[in-house]
Amino acid sequence: MRESDPLTVISGIGPKTEAYFKSLGVCSLLDMLLFFPRTYKKYPLPKDHPEDEGEYCAVTGSFERRPVTRRFRGLTITTDRLYSESGDEIEVIWYRMPYIEKSIKLYNKYVVYGMVSNHSGHLRFEQPSLFDTEKYYTMTKRPAPVYHLTKGLSNNTVSKAVDGALSICLPLKDPIPGYLLNKNQLPDINRSLINIHKPDSDIDIENSVRRFSYQEFLIYFLTEELQRSENKDVRNKFLFKNDSCLRSVTGSLPFELTGGQKKALSDIIEDMNGLFVTERLIQGDVGSGKTAVAFLSMIYAAENHYQSALMAPTEVLCDQHFEKMIKLISENNLPFRAVCLKGGMKQSDRKDALNKIKSGEADFIIGTHALISDNVTYHNLCLVITDEQHRFGVRQRAVLMEKGEFPFSVIMSATPIPRTLSLILYKGMNVSEIRDVPKSRKKILTAILKSSERNKAWKFISNEVAKGHQAYIICPFIEESETMDGENVTDYMDLYQKNFPEIKSGMLHGRMSLDKKNDIMKKFKEHEIDVLISTTVVEVGVDVANATVILIENADRFGLTQLHQLRGRVGRGDQQSFCILMDSSNGKNQNASKRLSALQESRDGFEVAEKDLILRGPGDINGTRQSGEAGFFIADSMRNPELLKEAADDAANIIKDDPMLCKDENKYLRKICESKDRLIYTNL
Ligand code: ADP
Ligand code: MG
Repeated sequence: MRESDPLTVISGIGPKTEAYFKSLGVCSLLDMLLFFPRTYKKYPLPKDHPEDEGEYCAVTGSFERRPVTRRFRGLTITTDRLYSESGDEIEVIWYRMPYIEKSIKLYNKYVVYGMVSNHSGHLRFEQPSLFDTEKYYTMTKRPAPVYHLTKGLSNNTVSKAVDGALSICLPLKDPIPGYLLNKNQLPDINRSLINIHKPDSDIDIENSVRRFSYQEFLIYFLTEELQRSENKDVRNKFLFKNDSCLRSVTGSLPFELTGGQKKALSDIIEDMNGLFVTERLIQGDVGSGKTAVAFLSMIYAAENHYQSALMAPTEVLCDQHFEKMIKLISENNLPFRAVCLKGGMKQSDRKDALNKIKSGEADFIIGTHALISDNVTYHNLCLVITDEQHRFGVRQRAVLMEKGEFPFSVIMSATPIPRTLSLILYKGMNVSEIRDVPKSRKKILTAILKSSERNKAWKFISNEVAKGHQAYIICPFIEESETMDGENVTDYMDLYQKNFPEIKSGMLHGRMSLDKKNDIMKKFKEHEIDVLISTTVVEVGVDVANATVILIENADRFGLTQLHQLRGRVGRGDQQSFCILMDSSNGKNQNASKRLSALQESRDGFEVAEKDLILRGPGDINGTRQSGEAGFFIADSMRNPELLKEAADDAANIIKDDPMLCKDENKYLRKICESKDRLIYTNL
């Protein structure tokens, strides 16, 4: 079973590179195979001379003198002059790449690929790539994979590592039975892996994505079917006699519940008093107030002497829920106790929490994925709530339910999908929709600015801060990357602090220690920080009502639904709020402009999702982060509704014929269904 081997078995990968990969979540050969490209790039044919300033282009030419490297404030800068075929002189600059000096052969013909800019009449390539002409021409013919990278890891290194993993592991046994591949015209696992990493054409990519999407759908439906057959018609043995706490807490909230919230809550309560145990999906746009519904149902469980658990996808969100719950308990003098359980806790705290959960001392258990780890034993768990369910796999949800004895399950989602699809995806679940937002809400005003107008945006933020409000600034990266351009929180923070020493700013990203993250979030919540400069870790759930502006750098890089979620961080109180989208393509990327305008015009999540579907490029797959719905990595029900339907039918037929997936041809499928971690594929 080579798939579980560490990366160091690949020749050329030592402990240092291994560590870089680990930071991206790639630990085994299998992870490497499943580390799908973020997108693909087609190299353009080389031009005689660059025309369009500000565009990526390729130019054929040669160097006639040796490059020169200087040091400037600790930065090495290597420069040279490219003489293009048509006689242009183009300045070429590389930062932090002194070694390039040695690799340049004078008078050799190269293709130089990168962004050209015009500096008062002089053309300049910054940080371009150099290729041998022949190699470059073969590259123009096929889509080149672009991987997610981290500092120290280049796209080339990833490609080589993937190559290594492919040659060690293939052929793999296909988890999908051959007759299903034939029926749905899908390539087998080996072809699909090769084609997704080393495609010859767009069709190769399309077919591979289709196959992996189908696999995700199929596993999802099979897991659901398996679980449903276990939980089918389970009698509800929980007894609910009291509702006085529920009533009094509802009455003492600082707001009145909206119609949608009231309905969702009464739906849950009705379920809990029904004959059978049920699952319910609460669908409500970002900011519609799903947390209140969750908390109130947990209180209802507690006053009837049952435990409830709330699972959140990030530690930041978990802490926020926990603190809110503690506050609610103390404000209402409730005789209940909440505990928090997440990764990275102190050993003693963790032990204490586990004891309280086991003994039943804890009424409310609020946590991250840690809630489903093996050593957690619940007391009399009656209700499990999964917040931001699209961040979890179906299996993770199932494991949490199996922790109790057939508890009720409520899953909360802000992902708006058409009803026709949700009927297939959430078959067997009851659905409550919260379509209204609290009355006091104002529309979030959204502006699109060019990067050159950043000062305007900053000034706007300063004004809001002067009024006593707070702001988020979102950057796509943590640190400067050698291969991708875009703002990073580390440098941005330095720059911002230099420009605005009087404003209290703080930085937040996923690679900070847990304590540090907690500390910064706490300070932001308590308004000790005015401006939070953060990566998208705040994308889900974070709720600071005093924040009235969110500035999103490189907004053109984000998907529309993601921008909509980010925008939902503001406008949570009754103050007028603003979202500033910085278009780093400066309006040159037409598709990006269209997407940003679509967001500007629309405030409704459903509408945004539909526009997103229409405007998204066909090559943009999302291979590494869970997005969309139901924890899919690659599949997208909106884009592939027919495939979704096929997979649902296939899963139902398989289960009908082999309810426990015991037949030989289905054993692998069962194994994947039972795996807690990866949905796509697992060690067989
Ligand atoms: P989401 O549905 O995105 O999870 P939250 O539950 O975090 O939204 O709620 C967003 C904000 O709206 C919170 O600050 C919450 O206190 C507030 N809120 C919730 N319900 C109401 C309501 N009915 N009226 C006014 N504000 C509300
Ligand atoms: Mg929420």
